[in-house]
Amino acid sequence: MTVLYTDPLFQKHDTGKHHPETARRLSAIVEHLDKSGLTAKCAAGTYKPLTEAQVARMHSAEQIQTVMQMAERGGGSIDNDTPVSSESFRVALAAAGACVAAVDAVMNGPQRNALCLVRPPGHHATPTQSMGFCLFNNIALAANHARTTHQLSRILIVDWDVHHGNGTQDAFFEDPEVAFLSVHRYGQGFYPGTGAANETGTGKGDGRIFNEPIRFGTSRKDYLTRFSSVLEKAATLVKPELVLISAGFDAHAKDPIGALGLEVEDFVEMTKRVLDVARTHASGRVVSCLEGGYNLEILPLAVQAHLEELLADGK
Ligand SMILES: [Zn+2]
Repeated sequence: MTVLYTDPLFQKHDTGKHHPETARRLSAIVEHLDKSGLTAKCAAGTYKPLTEAQVARMHSAEQIQTVMQMAERGGGSIDNDTPVSSESFRVALAAAGACVAAVDAVMNGPQRNALCLVRPPGHHATPTQSMGFCLFNNIALAANHARTTHQLSRILIVDWDVHHGNGTQDAFFEDPEVAFLSVHRYGQGFYPGTGAANETGTGKGDGRIFNEPIRFGTSRKDYLTRFSSVLEKAATLVKPELVLISAGFDAHAKDPIGALGLEVEDFVEMTKRVLDVARTHASGRVVSCLEGGYNLEILPLAVQAHLEELLADGK
C-alpha cells in the first residue's frame, strides 16, 4: 500500500481567479483518484501541521513572519507570482506537515512509499525567500526531518518538476547529507533561471547537487536518457537511505507553463526508475510530494499514473 496524504484544507490557499496554481488542481486530482478507485487502494495518511518553530528549522524568522502577517491582514502578494490569502499561512504549515508525516510513515512502516497531494507547492521557496507560487519548502522540511528525527545521513531528493528547484538547492547547497537532483527546462529566460550543470554544491556539499538542464525542443527519448543517466550517477554516489520526489507534472507537452514535450507515460517511466533506485538502496522508501502541473485535464491522469506505480511497488 501507498500512504496517501491530502486534505480539503489544502484547497483553502486562495490564489485568486486567474492564477495557474489554483485549488482546482487539487480538487481535480482528488475527484479523479476517488472515481478511479485508487484512493481506496491507499492507506489514508494522518498528519499534524508544522509549528512555526518547526518551519524555523529551515526558514528565516523574517520570512515566516512575512507570510503570517500577510495572511493575518487578509492577504497580499510576496511577488507577482506568489499570492497569500487569509488562510495561506495555515495551509502552508499543514502542507509541510503532511510531507513530514509521510517521512515518518515510510520510515516506521509497514508501508514503504507515500504520496503527498499538497499545495501550495514548495521547491522554489529558499531558506530566506518565498517565491514562485511557493511559501515554505515542503520537501526540504521533510528531508531535514528525515535527518534529525530518523538519523538518516544519505537522503536523495529527485525533482522532475519542469522548473529548477532553486529553493531546495539553496537549502542543501553546502550539505553533505541531503543530495539534490533536478531535471528541468533551462535557457531563454525560463523560470527561475538557475540550475546550470556547473552548480554542483560547495564545501562539504560539493558534488551532491546534480543539475540536468534541458533545452526546449529536446526529444522525449533524450530527456529520459539524460534523466536516467543523472539518476544513476547520483544514486551510485549517494546510496540513499530515503528518496524524496518533487513531483511536478508541468513538463507535460500540454502544460500551459512548462510544456517540455513529455507524455503521461514518461512520468510512469521516471517513477519506475526512481523506485528502482529506492529498492536498491533505500528498502523501497519513497516519499513523493506534488509540486507543479497546470493542465487541469492532464494533471489528474499524470498523478494517477504516478500513483499506480507507487502502489505496485509499495506492497
Ligand atoms: Zn514547476
